Amino acid sequence: MDTSWMAGGNCATHPPDTFFPSDGVGVEVARRICDGCPVGERCLEYALRNRIDHGVWGGTSERQRRRILKARRDATTPIAV
Ligand code: SF4
Repeated sequence: MDTSWMAGGNCATHPPDTFFPSDGVGVEVARRICDGCPVGERCLEYALRNRIDHGVWGGTSERQRRRILKARRDATTPIAV
């Protein structure tokens, strides 16, 4: 799997721990760094496809990614009639 795009992220110059915060304040700090990241969409998709539960990816928290995955599942689930 190609992960070379990671080197182009805003986070490249920050300690990795920043993106694995233990509280909401830490999540906001990480999300601010993600804001405007040139590889943000790719980062988010990588986390979603690989079901990465922990950390801030693509500017999203763990909870936000769970919601996105649920919305995608709901959108692709056929409605029983
Ligand atoms: S979106 Fe955030 S975590 Fe992802 S590469 Fe960019 S700065 Fe790093």
